[in-house]
Amino acid sequence: MVHKFDVVILGAGAAGLMCAIEAGKRGRRVAVLERANRVGKKILISGGGRCNFTNLHCRPEHFYSANPHFAKSALARYEPSDFIALVEKHHIPYHEKTLGQLFCDRSAQDIVELLETECRSAGVQIILKSGIQEVRRTEEFVVCTDSGEFHAPVLVVATGGLSIPKLGATSLGYDLARQFGLKIRETRPALVPLVLGTKDRTRYCDLAGVSAEVEVSTDHSSFREKMLITHRGLSGPAILQISMYWREHSAIRIDLAPGRDVTLSIREAKERNMAAARSALQGILPKRFATRWLDLHAPQDWTNRALEKLEGQLHEWIVEPVGTEGYEKAEVTVGGVDTEELSSKTMESRRVPGLFFIGELVDVTGHLGGFNFQWAWASGAAAGRSL
Ligand SMILES: Cc1cc2nc3c(=O)[nH]c(=O)nc-3n(C[C@H](O)[C@H](O)[C@H](O)COP(=O)(O)OP(=O)(O)OC[C@H]3O[C@@H](n4cnc5c(N)ncnc54)[C@H](O)[C@@H]3O)c2cc1C
Repeated sequence: MVHKFDVVILGAGAAGLMCAIEAGKRGRRVAVLERANRVGKKILISGGGRCNFTNLHCRPEHFYSANPHFAKSALARYEPSDFIALVEKHHIPYHEKTLGQLFCDRSAQDIVELLETECRSAGVQIILKSGIQEVRRTEEFVVCTDSGEFHAPVLVVATGGLSIPKLGATSLGYDLARQFGLKIRETRPALVPLVLGTKDRTRYCDLAGVSAEVEVSTDHSSFREKMLITHRGLSGPAILQISMYWREHSAIRIDLAPGRDVTLSIREAKERNMAAARSALQGILPKRFATRWLDLHAPQDWTNRALEKLEGQLHEWIVEPVGTEGYEKAEVTVGGVDTEELSSKTMESRRVPGLFFIGELVDVTGHLGGFNFQWAWASGAAAGRSL
C-alpha cells in the first residue's frame, strides 16, 4: 500500500516531533515514522525523569562541532524562550535547578504530551512500530516499511544518536547519510563516565559515591562542577562535560580545591603535623576522600617546600582514564553528519535536495544542562519552517 505525504520524518524523538509540528502548522501533510511502540522514549528518561528541556543561558559556546559556527543560525531563530512559551502554553510547571537548567516539576511525560498534542493540532500523522526496510529516491523519496510504502518529495532524518541502544537507538540515520553520499564525522560516546586504570581504581574506587566540587580540564576546555567517584572510575557533571573533549590515551587535570589555598592553615598552625593536614583537607574534601588523599600523598616532612608540593598535587591531579563507559551509559553521540554537507539555515543536504538531517545525528553536540534538547528543538524548527 502506498501512502503519499508532503513530508516524511524518520524518528519521533525531540527533533523529529518539533520539525513535524512546524511543518504541519504550515499546512504540510506530515507523516512521522517511528520504530518504537511510543514516541519520545529518550525524552521520558531524560533529566532523571524530569527532562532538562532547555537552558536559559544557551550560547553557541555550549556546543561542540567541527564547525563551531554552524549551529548559530538555527539557535538564534529558535531560542530557549520559544520553547518556554510552549511549555507555559501547556501549563506545565517547571523550575530552574541550577546554572539556567530548566526541569519539569512533575515529569518528562509532560513534555512528551506537549509534543503529541501539538502534533495532533497540526494534523501530523505518527506511525509507530514502523520498521524501515529501505529508503530510495526516484522522483521523490520512497520509504519502505512494515506498514507499506511512504512517498514524499521531502525526507527528514531524525533518528538520533547511538547512545542507550537498549532504548532502541539505531545507526539508520548515519547509514542513510552514507547511502546518499554525505560525509560523516567519526562518532564517539560523550557525556559519559570515565573508567580509571587498575592502579587508580584500586586507590580510589572503594570510595564510590563520594563527590566533590572540582575544576576539571583538558588542554582546550575546563568545567567547574561536581565530580563523583564510581565503582569503575569517575562521573558527575564535571566529568560528563569533560568526556566530550577527552580523547583516548590523553590525560585530564583535576583541581580538587579550585581557588582555595588548602595548606594555608597548616602553614599557620601551631604545630605542623598530620592532624593539622587532615583538618585542612577535610575542610575542602569529603572526609573519606581527604583521608585517602593524605594516605597516598603524605608530605615527606612539614617544610614549606613539602607543603607547596602537597598544595600543587591537590590543584593538579593528573588522571589518565583508560576509556569511557561507552554508548550504554552515554547521554549523547559526538560527531555525525558533517555540517559542511548541510545548510545551516534549513538543515537540508547541499548534495541531495529535499533530504534533511536534524537533531543529534548532526555533528553538533551540546554540553550537559539542557543544551542537547535546545539543539533538537532549534534544528527541528529550522527544517520544519523551511518546508
Ligand atoms: C539518559 C539520558 C538523559 C538525557 N537527559 C537530557 C536532558 O535532561 N537534557 C538534554 O538537553 N538532553 C538530554 N539527553 C540528550 C537528549 O535526549 C538527546 O540529545 C535528544 O533526545 C536528541 O534528540 P533527537 O530527536 O535527535 O534523537 P532522539 O530523541 O534519540 O530520537 C530519535 C528517534 O528515532 C527513533 N529511531 C531510531 N532508529 C530508528 C529507525 N531505524 N527507524 C525509525 N525510528 C528510529 C528512536 O526510537 C527515537 O524515537 C539525555 C540523553 C540520555 C540518553
